[in-house]
Amino acid sequence: MLFLIQYVKDFTISKSIIPAESMSFAESSNYFFKQAAKLLELSEDTISLLSQPYRELHVQVPIKMQNNQTKVFQGYRVQHSGARGPYKGGIRFHQEVDLDEVRALAQLMTWKTALVNVPFGGAKGGVSIDPSTLSESELEDIARTYFQNISHILGVKRDVPAPDMGTNEQTMAWMMDAYGSKFGHSPGIVTGKPIALGGSEGRTAATGYGVVMILKNYYKHVNKDLADQSIAIQGFGNVGMYAAKYLNELGCKIVAVSDVSATVHNENGLNIESLENQVANGNLLKNSNEKNILERDAVLSLNCDILIPAAIGGVINSSNWDNIQASVIVEAANAPITPFADYNLNSIDTVILPDILANAGGVIVSYFEWTQNIQQHWWSLEEVNKELEKMLNDAADECWQVQNEKQITIREAAYFIGVRRVIEALELRGFI
Ligand code: NAD
Repeated sequence: MLFLIQYVKDFTISKSIIPAESMSFAESSNYFFKQAAKLLELSEDTISLLSQPYRELHVQVPIKMQNNQTKVFQGYRVQHSGARGPYKGGIRFHQEVDLDEVRALAQLMTWKTALVNVPFGGAKGGVSIDPSTLSESELEDIARTYFQNISHILGVKRDVPAPDMGTNEQTMAWMMDAYGSKFGHSPGIVTGKPIALGGSEGRTAATGYGVVMILKNYYKHVNKDLADQSIAIQGFGNVGMYAAKYLNELGCKIVAVSDVSATVHNENGLNIESLENQVANGNLLKNSNEKNILERDAVLSLNCDILIPAAIGGVINSSNWDNIQASVIVEAANAPITPFADYNLNSIDTVILPDILANAGGVIVSYFEWTQNIQQHWWSLEEVNKELEKMLNDAADECWQVQNEKQITIREAAYFIGVRRVIEALELRGFI
């Protein structure tokens, strides 16, 4: 029997060791992985194998700008682990993208795909640009050039990117086209495409929808009514906006949402539909008609039951964790809570629904899109959402069960399950 790991019963994560106040993103993701590694009693060699990516690619993305000057941007693709299938992970266009961040996000994808049991490994990509400062044609050039420059490590059965912050279905269409012009028509090379090009019903809304499914499952599990809760959401882009929309439909009161420009607040509940219309076409919340417009980060410390960070990483950290009033935090963004803040919030019994569970709806529907592309057989929205709910609920139920059995946090349980699946694949394939 290859699967030799002995699980430790009633393991309590070394509660006495307080994580450093400040860590890089890659150190943070390794911190959470190493907690699971202790639980699973992994060897130092295995920890070393999985705390580093399999491959990191850094490419130049040179573009002729509209003013005719050539500008060189930096692009990355990091493949963390392919133990369970082709590498999978989004591509981010953001000014803060660097190798450390992409490395951390690639590792998160490995645990996320394993936790929700889709047959993929983990990867991430990005280009260090501020999309808001570029024209549509400059963005198109960047998308095409970046994708061509990383294309030799991609493939429908090798590495399949998707959208993330600053990219969308149009970006995926350009990337698919750039790849197709070199290797032949390959819709399965990216997910999150427009439906007209082989995208899946339900993909655009899937991450926000999944956040709400996980919250629903959690409130059922603890016998409370989700509709009674007041909610604040940081980030009003793809994930934050869909999460707000579905929570609103369930009757929850959304008291605040924020974007890069401001927080808008109404303790009696915001009109989400009106806000959605107001930010269409790239308008910022600071220019909305709301009466109570606060500074950008105010959203994090407002009075509410549930806080949903749905923007960037590291926003809840040593400087602000003790200002948070919410008793439940849902990590719709990737890595929004640093290990130091996570440790302290756990110590005051704040419930944290971790990123690898809470925002996994996107990668699950990406998996459905990929299978539809391979089979050339299309699913209805009802089929997509039914399967999505089942996979998310299975993963959530498993997390609650492991959390309860081992008396650990939900994040520790989620990592335990994800890392265990990756280890099993590595053992069966003869790597360890
Ligand atoms: P997006 O680009 O559509 O929206 C990002 C939102 O965050 C915008 O409203 C922007 O104004 C806001 N924002 C940016 N910087 C901010 C700051 N410093 N403070 C407050 N708000 C800020 O991106 P998205 O696709 O919604 O992704 C959001 C998060 O969700 C990211 O962490 C991403 O990795 C994660 N995620 C996305 C998907 C997906 O399918 N899109 C899947 C899983 C995880």
